Amino acid sequence: MKERPKRLTVDNNTQWECQKCMKCCETNKEIVQKIFNIKSHKEHCHFLEDKTCKIEDNKPLMCRLYPFFPGINDRKFSFAIGKLTIFAGCPGVGKGKKISENKELLKKIDGTAKELMDRFALKLQGKIKDVFEEKKKPAT
Ligand code: SF4
Ligand code: SF4
Repeated sequence: MKERPKRLTVDNNTQWECQKCMKCCETNKEIVQKIFNIKSHKEHCHFLEDKTCKIEDNKPLMCRLYPFFPGINDRKFSFAIGKLTIFAGCPGVGKGKKISENKELLKKIDGTAKELMDRFALKLQGKIKDVFEEKKKPAT
């Protein structure tokens, strides 16, 4: 069985800055292929070209959220510092500003968090199968 990626809880001192290594496009490859029903044998995601995401403006929620993931307790998501988690394997962990002081990043996480909550509500109503399910394939 595939080992789950290790996640760390984000506290007041956790630092993160994206290193643009695109390692996440390897990690998220399978889920993106599943969302868009694509079969590809590439090492990275089908949409990655010259270290750039070809669908940057329409990339799936999973990719927009990476490397962050909410803490989950009693089927409730929390994106608050102290609950929010970060994938330990992301090379940006420990680099750049403290997350708790990075207003721009916190605003972005907050927006994505709201979207995830809305989708979770739709899942509970049986309207979608998966919170990361996308409605249409973006034009490339
Ligand atoms: S793996 Fe982490 S550091 Fe590398 S591009 Fe993805 S988010 Fe940025
Ligand atoms: S959709 Fe874009 S960001 Fe997401 S894995 Fe593919 S290339 Fe990377």
